[in-house]
Amino acid sequence: MAKAFVIAETENGARELCAGARSIADGVVLCIAGAPAVTGVADSCVHIDVPAGNVVDDAYASVIKAFDASGADVVLAEQTLHALSLVGRLAAAKGAAAIAGVTELDGDVASSMYFGGTGVRTAKPATDVKIYTVVAGTFDAAAATGTDAVEEVAFEAPAAAVVKTGSEALPPASVDLAGADAVVACGRGFQAEEDLQFARDLAAKIGAEVGCSRPLSEGVTWFPREAYVGVSGQMISPKIYFAIGVSGQMQHMVGCAGAGTVVAINKDKNAPVFKQCDYGFVGDLKMVLPELTAAL
Ligand SMILES: Cc1cc2nc3c(=O)[nH]c(=O)nc-3n(C[C@H](O)[C@H](O)[C@H](O)COP(=O)(O)OP(=O)(O)OC[C@H]3O[C@@H](n4cnc5c(N)ncnc54)[C@H](O)[C@@H]3O)c2cc1C
Repeated sequence: MAKAFVIAETENGARELCAGARSIADGVVLCIAGAPAVTGVADSCVHIDVPAGNVVDDAYASVIKAFDASGADVVLAEQTLHALSLVGRLAAAKGAAAIAGVTELDGDVASSMYFGGTGVRTAKPATDVKIYTVVAGTFDAAAATGTDAVEEVAFEAPAAAVVKTGSEALPPASVDLAGADAVVACGRGFQAEEDLQFARDLAAKIGAEVGCSRPLSEGVTWFPREAYVGVSGQMISPKIYFAIGVSGQMQHMVGCAGAGTVVAINKDKNAPVFKQCDYGFVGDLKMVLPELTAAL
């Protein structure tokens, strides 16, 4: 069986990917650069401390060294900015084939969406080292198991480094759609901002995060940028997804294509969303939502 090397940037990503790696490999090494080590999810965690003034992406020489030491032949990477940069360098260094946007892994065969999510492709890397970048929610983070072993690997500055000229903390993200089991998404069917309370009541009842379609984040600014779902927003795989007052345009539905169950509420029985959901309610959201929330 294979040995896996996981490159993660966030704790939840580390948990998910290590759980997935465990299902295809008999050894799992987690590698984290520039963020706290995560234990209990892999056989060991390689931790690379990135000195102030350096950027995480420049830890690639250390990551490649750690990969070589791990003896791994399969790599799973989180689809986050720095992890993608690091895994790209690793792929180039190893001459390894890489598949991006993986939503399912069956042995070495990966499923990933293409044409903006209108199709699913299966493919496998034809090189000895196989690299996959994986969409959040593909694996069950709760299944991760491992030890507390942490190995510190020194940061090796590359000859051509990026020089950080400054940084400024932004307010913390107000929603965590990627980590949520249940998401209630609001679309343009909500005609007044105060009507969002109907969705928030449902979300509070079932412990869901509240997200939206793009117009509610970029047309009006009822939601922050990180709350919208879709091809240019968040790609998520919750267990259950409520699309409320969402018409079901492809650019939105791609973002929830990995959801276990999709429930739609729309007053137009011909709305495209009804062809893409498991359960549908035809009706005014202001009538349906309070009844649904009360019934749950
Ligand atoms: C390049 C590109 C990228 C894009 N990326 C994204 C993306 O990432 N995410 C995204 O969301 N969109 C994206 N879009 C926009 C996308 O094409 C759609 O325009 C958008 O998703 C529509 O949002 P909506 O379903 O909320 O609104 P609408 O399409 O206007 O649908 C509103 C729905 O609400 C229903 N409705 C109205 N009133 C009620 C009521 N009282 N009760 C119940 N239902 C009601 C209507 O019947 C209608 O079906 C992108 C577009 C482009 C061109």
